[in-house]
Amino acid sequence: MAKISIDIKSGNVKKESDLIIGIDLGTTNSLVAYIKEGNPVAVKGKNGKSTLVPSIVHFDKEKKIIVGDQAKAKLVEDPENTIYSVKRLLGKSYNDVQNVQQYFGYKILDEDPDSLVKIRVKDKYYTPIELSAEILKELKNRIETELNQNISKAVITVPAYFNDAQRQATRDAGKLAGLDVLRIVNEPTAASLAYGVDKLAEEAQTIAVYDLGGGTFDISILRIENGIFEVLSTNGDTYLGGDDFDKAILDFWIKEQHLNLESLEKQPSLLQELRLAAEQAKKVLSTEKNYQENIGGVKYSINKVQFNQLIQALIDKTIDSCKSALKDANLSAKDINHIVMVGGSTRVPLAKESVANFFGKEVFDKLNPDEVVALGAAIQADILAGNQKDMLLLDITPLSLGIETVGGLMDSIIPRNSKVPTKAGRNYTTSIDGQANLKVSVYQGERDLVEHNRKLGEFILKGIPPMPAGLPKIEIQFIINADGILKVKAKELRSNIEQEIEIRSQYGLSEEEMAKMLLESIHNAEGDMKQRALLEARNEANNILLSTDKFIVQNASILSKEEVETTLKFHQKLKIKVAETDKDAINKAMEELNEYTTPLAHRAMDVTIRESLKGKKVGKD
Ligand code: AMP
Repeated sequence: MAKISIDIKSGNVKKESDLIIGIDLGTTNSLVAYIKEGNPVAVKGKNGKSTLVPSIVHFDKEKKIIVGDQAKAKLVEDPENTIYSVKRLLGKSYNDVQNVQQYFGYKILDEDPDSLVKIRVKDKYYTPIELSAEILKELKNRIETELNQNISKAVITVPAYFNDAQRQATRDAGKLAGLDVLRIVNEPTAASLAYGVDKLAEEAQTIAVYDLGGGTFDISILRIENGIFEVLSTNGDTYLGGDDFDKAILDFWIKEQHLNLESLEKQPSLLQELRLAAEQAKKVLSTEKNYQENIGGVKYSINKVQFNQLIQALIDKTIDSCKSALKDANLSAKDINHIVMVGGSTRVPLAKESVANFFGKEVFDKLNPDEVVALGAAIQADILAGNQKDMLLLDITPLSLGIETVGGLMDSIIPRNSKVPTKAGRNYTTSIDGQANLKVSVYQGERDLVEHNRKLGEFILKGIPPMPAGLPKIEIQFIINADGILKVKAKELRSNIEQEIEIRSQYGLSEEEMAKMLLESIHNAEGDMKQRALLEARNEANNILLSTDKFIVQNASILSKEEVETTLKFHQKLKIKVAETDKDAINKAMEELNEYTTPLAHRAMDVTIRESLKGKKVGKD
């Protein structure tokens, strides 16, 4: 049933819609789609030109947030305040990304290598979730303007290889953007749905989805049986895509014209013009045999044969990935029933031909490869809305299930709308030296703080052997059987002690109560997220304060009096900030303490290594 709401500020009457939208939240570009008169369509922007929204967020001088094409225009001019490829950072810790920091023009930081990354823009610290939420808000806005309706429900796609943390981060971004994320769908599954692969045959089918975008390549092998998709294997290269084709053309021209990259870098506007021309050449060569352009009085040209030579090795690499994916799925090329092409770079004829040759079959390429994932997401949304009669709906968990972690935060373990039966687990550790007991409190709900969710039960895992904080490995598993009964198990993996409870009252809520809980979670998303960010910053800071204390005691002999005093000064400042409520100030104080102590820690490490070598003989006697 549609409700009517009036926007008091503008006086506009907007229908509250039941429509569920499909969103492709991409690394380079994002799109939103819906079912219009029975067919999926992607929504264009106000200028009516493109369905693609560049996944780029720019902060202008007044810290106003700009998303999409206008943000993309700032990439060269103001790289520090223009955030791109944020999807690569979603759900990642600093440990996960430190090898690739050089790919980002902006500042990524984390003082605690195990916690999630943050991005500094001017004097504020943002999580990848908050930045992704800005992209989602833009898409929500786009479709609300197009349909003149308020939209609050969505299906969002993610790569098949996304782990639990990355999927949860995507859900959180949706919530922050005011969207109830009904389901997270794998991108290759969505692309297959767009081609109606699920309706092509009665018996089980095996599908290869070849996704070559601007900066990433993924191959996924899927199996579909009775409308249910299963990912058999995935492979790919997170730094291979159409951008590399552009670069190959640029390098070719630089060599041909005897240009020098160093001197070109001193003429950024010419270099930028050449880069754009290289991309244009690539696109033209998807349909023509030659490309030619005059830039700054010089003729630049390339033909299709030359281009194919330049990119042959890159395409071969993608075929090697296809071989690995097949091997992991225990299949050979002839076992594949259908091949689906996704991503703008699959327009390159050599890519298409090579894939068709390898699998020995024609590929599906009739749909716009930039749009197919979003179109499939819209179809999945339509299935969830119950509009596609021949699709079966499965039993699902109505609300997320999780446990309480430090500071009263909710950590979702089984997200809402998961198919039942299901099983999920995560590892935790202790926060105090010698901690013997761990309380496991189980909650249901979508809010960030457990106090706003519904408590289902709790138990205590007793008898953890004495160890320093952070060393025990405690696995918490949630298992829901086909009857909807939830079992929660906790096990300390070093000592094998375990404890469990069974919860039968998971569904003791009426539909109205559940709807109310959901609505509250969306309405409070921003406030909840702020509180979560503050609590997380405090937890991280407390860990750092503790390890700094230990560090000073353990290394008293190698630190000068002045070094100890300065460390304590930064330590004290952080302690004061932790007691206040400004998360950016806590982050800044952490960064300062960390910057000062890192060289001291390196020195301490060198001394320790030297000492330990002194006492020992290295190698065989
Ligand atoms: P995606 O990440 O899926 O949006 O893919 C974008 C990539 O597709 C970019 O590298 C584009 O240059 C590339 N692309 C777009 N159109 C074409 C085309 N006609 N021929 C070749 N590559 C294209």
